[in-house]
Amino acid sequence: MRYHNITHDDMLNGSGLRVVLWVAGCEHKCYNCHNPITWDIDGGILFDDEAKEEIFSSLDKDYIKGITFSGGDPLHTKNREPIFKLIKEIKQKYPQKDIWVYTGYSWEQICDLDLINYIDVLVDGKFIFELRDNKLQWKGSSNQRVIDVKQTLKQQKIILY
Ligand code: SF4
Repeated sequence: MRYHNITHDDMLNGSGLRVVLWVAGCEHKCYNCHNPITWDIDGGILFDDEAKEEIFSSLDKDYIKGITFSGGDPLHTKNREPIFKLIKEIKQKYPQKDIWVYTGYSWEQICDLDLINYIDVLVDGKFIFELRDNKLQWKGSSNQRVIDVKQTLKQQKIILY
């Protein structure tokens, strides 16, 4: 897996202060995407042990509520396996921290993936420029949903966060 950035003490991509991993690779090609530099699956830099330790050092801090995976698309087919591995490791090491994932896929397209069981909040759907709204919290366009994954799986219907 490759990535573009790790941002710390982020307040915009999920609840509370968070560490954010911006992965490389996205096939959705949304019109006016905010981050087209991340589309290339071979772009950015290799996600190695040093990068992982950088994330862990952020998660070690009590005031960091959790981690957000964004991009790019963390659920690009080539990212799914390494992201799943990383999420499992984080859940084991930091069970009290929450996991948010942004993806251009809809919930219905990816809800059967095993890694979904390890995610707390999923922000789903492509960015649709015509539906953009700067006032929306944690999402760029009104078609996207901020989904409470645990409750959605439990109640077998979409429950928003
Ligand atoms: S899913 Fe996100 S990163 Fe991918 S093209 Fe759409 S807005 Fe850009």
